[in-house]
Amino acid sequence: MSVSEIFDTMDYGPAPESLSEAMAWLDGHGRAFGCFIDGAFTKARGDFESRNPATGDVLATVTQGTAEDVEAAVKAARKAQGPWAKLGGAGRARVLYALARGLQKHSRLFAVLETLDNGKPIRESRDIDVPLAQRHFYYHAGMAQLMEEELPDRAPVGVCGQVISWNFPLLMLAWKIAPALAMGNTVVLKPAEYTSLTALLFAELCSQAGVPDGVVNIVTGDGQTGALITEHDGIDKVAFTGSTEVGRHIRRATAGTGKALTLELGGKSPYIVFEDADLDSAVEGLVDAIWFNQGQVCCAGSRLIVQEGITEDFYARLKRRMDGLRLGDPLDKCIDVGAIVDPVQLETIRAMVDGNTEGETYVAACAVPEGCFYPPTLITGLSPAAQLMQDEIFGPVLAATTFRTPSEAVQVANNTRYGLAASVWSENINTALDIAPQLSAGVVWVNGTNMFDAAAGFGGVRESGFGREGGWEGLMAYTRPAKARKAVKQVTAFPAGKAALGTLDRTAKMYVGGKQARPDAGYSQRIWSKQGKLLGEVGLANRKDVRNAVEAAHKAAGWGKTTGHLRAQILYYIAENLSAREAEFAARIDDLTGAKGGKAEVVACLDTLFSAAAWADKFSGEARSVPIRGLALALREPTGVVGVLCEGASPLLGLVKPMAGVMAMGCTGVFVASEAFPLAATDFYQVLDTSDVPGGVVNILTGAHGDVAGTLADHMDVEAVWSFSDPALTKRIEEGAAGNLKRTWCPVGGVADLPMREVLEAATEVKTVWVPYGA
Ligand code: NAD
Ligand code: MN
Repeated sequence: MSVSEIFDTMDYGPAPESLSEAMAWLDGHGRAFGCFIDGAFTKARGDFESRNPATGDVLATVTQGTAEDVEAAVKAARKAQGPWAKLGGAGRARVLYALARGLQKHSRLFAVLETLDNGKPIRESRDIDVPLAQRHFYYHAGMAQLMEEELPDRAPVGVCGQVISWNFPLLMLAWKIAPALAMGNTVVLKPAEYTSLTALLFAELCSQAGVPDGVVNIVTGDGQTGALITEHDGIDKVAFTGSTEVGRHIRRATAGTGKALTLELGGKSPYIVFEDADLDSAVEGLVDAIWFNQGQVCCAGSRLIVQEGITEDFYARLKRRMDGLRLGDPLDKCIDVGAIVDPVQLETIRAMVDGNTEGETYVAACAVPEGCFYPPTLITGLSPAAQLMQDEIFGPVLAATTFRTPSEAVQVANNTRYGLAASVWSENINTALDIAPQLSAGVVWVNGTNMFDAAAGFGGVRESGFGREGGWEGLMAYTRPAKARKAVKQVTAFPAGKAALGTLDRTAKMYVGGKQARPDAGYSQRIWSKQGKLLGEVGLANRKDVRNAVEAAHKAAGWGKTTGHLRAQILYYIAENLSAREAEFAARIDDLTGAKGGKAEVVACLDTLFSAAAWADKFSGEARSVPIRGLALALREPTGVVGVLCEGASPLLGLVKPMAGVMAMGCTGVFVASEAFPLAATDFYQVLDTSDVPGGVVNILTGAHGDVAGTLADHMDVEAVWSFSDPALTKRIEEGAAGNLKRTWCPVGGVADLPMREVLEAATEVKTVWVPYGA
């Protein structure tokens, strides 16, 4: 036998990790767990089993949290929240640091327990899940320490209800609990029903680390328990990780309740390989992209998009690599692919793959153990519209297609309702950095995949949800403005007076695509002064007008690709032209409101325009300090098309403030003018016309907010809806937003007190672009 033959035939011997410590811990709890509420475990009720999917063995029984349990947990969290916040950042930092240390000290126990309960390879839980969870607590210990100094205008939100998925049980817990605690919140967290055990071990760690009773509560159970948490009146903020379907349900269920919400949902992330890529590295990357955690990864590179010239070569290399993957006992340190979390999930994967009739299916020629295992699978030759190209499989199945040109690559990559992550492989830095910003995704990896760190934000766009976890941006979700703001006064139009309408047509037009537009239905409404003088008429926008305006705003998307410098120039120009007509606008405002605030309001508008112009080239990204050789760039990207219901009481500032922020960040907008006092907004488009604002960037509609709020909120091509209007509309807006999971922003308090920074935050999303360097 030659040496090379020996190498070829040599097999790995099993190298199992010991499970004795984990078993001892389970035995110590009598293999039955209650919930962890107010610092203690409740009585175990044995409602359901938590199993090891690799063997089918029952590990322990877990309790299904009831309404009473959730009530007790929320109450404990509420009671603990004030003192926890008052402990101060430095005090909380000590506790978070102790949690990080505890995770480190017990890292092997956490890793083995995670692998037992979830089925993921021990190499992954030991080298990825647990270290990243530790890192999250260290990082946020630092954030607690810095909060008072660096975020003086932010305060804790209160009690957070957090519901997570089963694919990274401990890591998702860390992503939820660490930032919440750092910012002075308390939590009620529900782990997923397949994987409760590391959350319960973490609960025990909380007691050891000196987390005060009630600050962390763990309520176990299924979706019903989840709903009891997300829909509980005593919860101030809901954070959810899971499927888009359940996320959408939670969006609707929490609409109008005033609860803050962040959603980390599903994905179908593209993995783009250009012909000049380092193909072997790209193949190796794919192993991490789609076979990491058996493909049960929200940001898995599950859609392979390969440039045509290299397709055959690349598929051949990939298949060879697939054949070499080792499936088996997750506790074996030599295993690449472990068990699927549960037979139910296995069946879902089977049904999806078996139901596919397109393309060619290649199944890795590796041994597949009996039980909850699924072989690495590649399906090539799929059309972009194929179900397996569009829907999340959440298993070790890669769907592949090809492209010719870079622009086609972007088109295919973005042809999905999701937008979580993307990978781009090319040895040409120009290609890679040209493609990255064009991808609809919250995270982009250049020549890499599945890189994570606490210092870099993670989260989606489109139907992958909203909100970020990690980085400074992740703290926004766990804080609110510190100064309480007075709710703005709702105004109504003045009643009709006696004056007859003159012979002139005084109906102010709407403004769509840079042109004046008559209302579709031809209905209009008279606007009267306080003294009963007829000031003019405005059209009443209907669905069709909204759709036209949204279409115009979409066509103007090129605005987002212009430079901050250019956008600043145009904002200054608007200010200049408004300033020239200051007296006229001031008088108009006074007529409309029947008050004397017109001059001050115009001055505030000028100030706002200058402030937005100032920020246009400064509200930019950062390079984040992540533990890789390379960069993680946190880029601010425009949210897209924003629909705004303008504040009633401020006829001009109600338009100009959100508009200035939208324009500065490269978004485009549909602005529905103050319902009671719309005529200052319709006058304003003359200012826009003379200020070089490209058509479609700003569109102005008039009419009843109640008539258009639903259309804007339901519209699949609107990325965000902001309402400064009647709070009664918030519920409808948030319900409609569930359709395409658009962002909503319905702040309390008037535009006058609103810091421009908050508008800019709402107008942008952070995209993290990872660029590792070669050795
Ligand atoms: P799931 O939505 O079925 O369940 C997630 C969690 O929600 C579980 O704890 C479940 O008990 C709970 N739940 C179910 N119904 C609920 C309801 N009506 N109200 C409140 N809670 C409810 O998802 P899953 O199957 O556990 O996880 C897989 C999904 O999670 C995939 O789509 C994946 O992409 C996504 N995911 C996303 C991220 C991310 O960060 N974006 C991370 C991990 C997983
Ligand atoms: Mn389990």
